[in-house]
Formats: sequence, structure tokens, C-alpha cells
Amino acid sequence: MDGELGKQLIDSLRIGVILLDPNGRVIAWNAWMRRHSGLQLADVSGRLIAEVFPDTANSRLGIGIEQALRFKLSSMLAPGLNPGMLPLHQKPADRKLDRRMQQLVYVTPLNHAQCACLIQIHDMTATVRREQRLRAQSSQLIETAYRDALTGIGNRRRFDHDLAERFRQAQQRRSPVALLMIDVDEFKAYNDHLGHPKGDACLIKVATTLQETLRGQDDGMTRYGGEEFALLLADTTLDEACAVAERLRQGIQDLRIPHPNSHGPGHVTVSVGIAAMVPTADQLCYILLAQADLALYTAKDAGRNRCMCYDPDSGEANHCR
Ligand code: GH3
Ligand code: MG
Ligand code: MG
Repeated sequence: MDGELGKQLIDSLRIGVILLDPNGRVIAWNAWMRRHSGLQLADVSGRLIAEVFPDTANSRLGIGIEQALRFKLSSMLAPGLNPGMLPLHQKPADRKLDRRMQQLVYVTPLNHAQCACLIQIHDMTATVRREQRLRAQSSQLIETAYRDALTGIGNRRRFDHDLAERFRQAQQRRSPVALLMIDVDEFKAYNDHLGHPKGDACLIKVATTLQETLRGQDDGMTRYGGEEFALLLADTTLDEACAVAERLRQGIQDLRIPHPNSHGPGHVTVSVGIAAMVPTADQLCYILLAQADLALYTAKDAGRNRCMCYDPDSGEANHCR
């Protein structure tokens, strides 16, 4: 191939091409490099890459070039680990802000008397941006998938995930895990009397209050379903869980949301069932759910607007101490 054809060829490539002599000095610098670095061949010819781009000295690229020249070793430098390796820019406007192109760089040793190393640079900016956008969209989707659409707190999927996770952790650490099941009292009557939209507004208020009453101590309040909420507490004993439950029950009572059709105090209240255990390795997480459920329905039977906890010794539910 004659020299002119070779020059035309590397100038028409849509990647950056740099050729180095055995001493690491630039002998070729294609049109792509001129366009994206703002430097002409005359500016760089006969100079070391570290002189042309001082921030490559001691960089992974610098080491890659050294290894190609000395030991005939190839290397590939991906944009993820080496963001904006060289001061190359897609547009002149990006240069002013030093908004660098994301680059994928191949360093290849060559067996030629004058030409010892080929550096190829690919513009990966669009790919990296697309990847970042997809990653952001995917975390947004995961976030949405775990959030209850009406109340904005965690949903049943979140609860199921957390239950399995926290139960497993408690088994490993031999620490207590507690569960509170919180159910709005006589909510069917509330809905029937005031209508579904008011019912929805009430559920939003209850959910928000339950969440806020935890005062950021735990953001694990979830809507288990309908007018039922669930809270998992890691490293929490039964007595500690009862204290949290009582604070939550009181918080809802203090809202004084009128409930004209209730048999209770005339405003919206909740009943809470509590269970806590240090699970053994062979136990399934659903046992905690069954115990808290039993305590909740005992609280309903006992007259509602109260907290009751499961007693593992008797297998029945008692009032919290
Ligand atoms: P208890 O005190 O025994 O819990 O009685 P309850 O009436 O609260 O229980 P029940 O399970 O009979 O009724 C629950 C009601 O909750 C039924 C349904 O109308 C209402 N509900 C469930 N989900 C929603 C919702 O998303 N929006 C509204 N507005 N109401 C809901
Ligand atoms: Mg209810
Ligand atoms: Mg219910």
C-alpha cells in the first residue's frame, strides 16, 4: 500500500488513531484525532503522549503504552473504569467546559522498525449515556414497583421482600425480629357511610401518620393490603415493639378523623397485632405473620383501638405490658 493511500485510509476512519515509534514518540495522528483534540500533527509529531497529554503520565493508559513498547503487551481501557481518559471532545463547545468524550482505548504493539505501537480510540459517549439513562430508568421502575400507588409508602411486594430478608438476617445473627400488623377499625362502615374517595383520603392520612410517627427511626411502614399496614422491626424485642405499636395507635387516635358510623369513640382508630421472635434456622418467616395476625384478631375481638401481642408460651395473645 502506498503512503498516500495509507494516510487517506487512517484519515477516513471514524476512530482516533495514534502511531508511536519505538521510543513512544508520535509519528501519526489521524484526522479524527485532529478534530477531537484540537491539535494538528505538527503540534504533536515527535513528542511523547505524556508531553502531549500531561494527565496520562502514570495513568493506566501511560502504563499500557509502556507495556506495549517494552513487553509487546496489548491492553484495553474501558470508559467505566477510566472516564474521560484523554482530553478529547465531541464538539469545540465541549472543550471550553472540558466535557470529555467517553473513550474506549486499545493499545496494540506492532512489529515494525519505525512503528512500535498503535493506539485506537473509540467514542463511547452515546453508549455510556444510554447505559446511564437505562440504569436510572431501571432504578426508578424498581422504586415504583415497591411503592403503593395510593399512599406512597411501601407496598405488599416491599413487605414480602423485607420479611424474607429481615427474617433471614435475624436467623443468622440470632437477634429478635418483630412484626406489627395494623388494621383500621370498622373501615367498611367508614367507606359505606362517607364514600370511597373519602375512604381513600383517610387511608392516605393514616399511612402518612404511621410513617411520620416512626420519626425516621424506620421507614419500613408498608401497606399490606386494603386498610391493613405492616411494619417489620429488626433487632427489636416484643416489649420494644409494643412501645412502638402503642405510639402508632395513639398517633392515629390523635388525628381525630371523624368516623360517624363507628361503634367506638366516633373517630378513626386502629388495632395492632404484634409478634416478635428470635427465629431458629429451620423456621419459616410466615410463622411471624401468623402470630401477629392472631394477635390482631384478638385485639379486634377485645373491642378494637388497642394493641395486643402474641405470647409464645401460651400460644395466645395478651395485652401489651
Ligand atoms: P375491622 O374493624 O374488623 O377491621 O372491620 P373493617 O370494616 O375495617 O374490615 P373489613 O375487612 O370488613 O373491611 C375493610 C374495608 O376496607 C373494605 C373496603 O371497603 C375498604 N378498603 C380496602 N381497600 C380500600 C381502598 O383502597 N380504598 C378505600 N376507600 N377503601 C378500601
Ligand atoms: Mg379493618
Ligand atoms: Mg382488614
